[in-house]
Amino acid sequence: MMGHMADHLAGTSDATRAVHAGVPERSPYEPPFPGPVFTSHYHLPGDPAGAPYTYARDGNPTWTRLEDALAELESPGTPAHAVTFASGMGAIAAVMLSLLRPGDAVAVPSDAYTLIGGVLRDQLEAYDVEVRAAPTAGDAQLALLDGVRLLWLETPSNPKLDVCDIRRLAAAAHERGALVAVDNTLATPLGQRPLDLGADLSVASGTKAVTGHSDVLLGYAVTRDESLAARLRLWRKTTGAIPGPMEAWLAHRSLATMELRTRQQAANALAVARALRSRAEVAGVRHPGLPEDPSHARAVAQMSRFGCVVSFTLPSKEFAERFLAALRLVDDATSFGGVRSSAERRGRWGDEVPEGFIRLSVGVEDPADLVADLTQALERAAG
Ligand SMILES: *Cc1c(COP(=O)(O)O)cnc(C)c1O
Repeated sequence: MMGHMADHLAGTSDATRAVHAGVPERSPYEPPFPGPVFTSHYHLPGDPAGAPYTYARDGNPTWTRLEDALAELESPGTPAHAVTFASGMGAIAAVMLSLLRPGDAVAVPSDAYTLIGGVLRDQLEAYDVEVRAAPTAGDAQLALLDGVRLLWLETPSNPKLDVCDIRRLAAAAHERGALVAVDNTLATPLGQRPLDLGADLSVASGTKAVTGHSDVLLGYAVTRDESLAARLRLWRKTTGAIPGPMEAWLAHRSLATMELRTRQQAANALAVARALRSRAEVAGVRHPGLPEDPSHARAVAQMSRFGCVVSFTLPSKEFAERFLAALRLVDDATSFGGVRSSAERRGRWGDEVPEGFIRLSVGVEDPADLVADLTQALERAAG
């Protein structure tokens, strides 16, 4: 289904769009926010050509409403098409595997989300796609662009929080005829708009801050190019990488609070990062919103909100594990972006980070309570 732009949202702010995007026009005696449509097929008399819904692997009104909302948020004021998937990896794999052909090259960040440098890279190489990698920091992917078909960016990168210049990299890639996709998971569309910065595709895991309640897996890709969107829809239909209607509905329901959640989380993350910086046992505190962060200038130039992730390094693996065990308000868990704070030692997944490296996802709790909890856990870990 094609996304459509809602006229009544023209010129409204992020907060208003997050609440109203994808909500159907008023219709007497219909629910204002319809529930999920559970069906495998639709009444389909005669010739199916042009039918909006045929079989539910191809389309579902619950996806359409969510996709209209995501297109509205990633591309306010300019028509765009969102395609939702069963997970962020479903969306990433759809973009890479549907756009790349044997003999093509793709440039990825060497510090990208772990599965990109791992299994997805192996899969691409098995299809004879050349995978080139360079760090996000310092726009190092610029050196990889000759002959690439797709430039894949992730900014801020997860978990190290480096930031690259999307505009500069997209312009250089377009000069060479390459397509540009940005993983916008960490920033969310309320923090960064890759399509406005020149990217062809904004791709994200909706599992994280977009939905924010840690109860759903979901992914999406948004593009202003109808032919790219059509290829992604065909890929989704062919591989069956579809979101469930319940997940799509939960995701859409969560968008109404995304502005409130991400605003509070970004403010909390900054407060927590500042508090951590003052502790002698904590090294290498990173958060793009910290004025002294190496990513800050670049982040300010292209982001409006700096996300909920703070990373830092504790003296050792053992120290880090004592710290995580002593936290009372912060779960020891993977993932990020949820309303409840969580933290983990990334070295346990084999990330190329120091053994004491912690990725902290800051939730919507009172920041003073979070700082108090982190402080008592540091003291217990040291003692
Ligand atoms: C979590 C994550 C993904 C993968 O998303 P899933 O929904 O877990 O499949 C991709 N990119 C980034 C940056 C992520 O944080």
